[in-house]
Amino acid sequence: MRKPIIAGNWKMNKTVAEAIDLAQKLRILCKGLQGVEIVVCPPYTALQSAAQALSGSSIHLGAQNLYWEQRGAFTGEISPVMLKDVGCDYAILGHSERRQHFHETNLGVSKKITAALSHGLIPIVCVGETLVEREEDRTFSVVEDQIGGSIRPIIRTRREPIVIAYEPVWAIGTGRNATPDQANEVHTFIRYLLQDLFGEEFSASTRILYGGSVNPGNIEALMAQPELDGALVGGASLEAESFAQIVKSSIRSPNGS
Ligand code: PEP
Repeated sequence: MRKPIIAGNWKMNKTVAEAIDLAQKLRILCKGLQGVEIVVCPPYTALQSAAQALSGSSIHLGAQNLYWEQRGAFTGEISPVMLKDVGCDYAILGHSERRQHFHETNLGVSKKITAALSHGLIPIVCVGETLVEREEDRTFSVVEDQIGGSIRPIIRTRREPIVIAYEPVWAIGTGRNATPDQANEVHTFIRYLLQDLFGEEFSASTRILYGGSVNPGNIEALMAQPELDGALVGGASLEAESFAQIVKSSIRSPNGS
């Protein structure tokens, strides 16, 4: 059985003091929870303080992005070496906001995935269609293109675990989430693509998260779908109580329900 992951993307929110407060509350609320992996992704400026606040807990730290070089003259960028140094285990890569506002391409995401894996970071690779693309019935081809462009280039050399987050762009921060069936349909398609690229074993063990207006009220129905292995949570991860509730609701009983 794949262990679910609930990852909180704090985006460009939280000062250092606010990040410490949120991390400390999560630490208490999520203490002792089994059967789920918890990841929080604060902004770069709060990574170190959040790492200290979470030290000794089972909550993992993740970054929201990275640059693929190790060091050097790349003003404003952060390398995977720096992220490992500060305690990160995960990095969100190719988020739709980065593709949209910062013109990230599949090729760039691919380089970032390689860099993350080379330095022991688990990439959470985001894919998903816009509303127009869904309405034009292009969801599968867009997702196939994103996976083909960002993940296919690494398959000859890499077999480390990656995590995929299916995030329909029209559902991010809009309060409008994909129905559980809609999400499961795309997750099933992604698993099929992974099988084609990496083989059965890799496909069956890869966690595919859903992201897009996940909240304490819809997580249970989403997690009831067989191909959903957790969630990437934006807005609802900024409050300790709502994030902890999502984490608790994602834990599957041993019989898989
Ligand atoms: C996200 O940014 O990855 C996200 C899913 O945001 P929200 O939960 O706010 O829709």
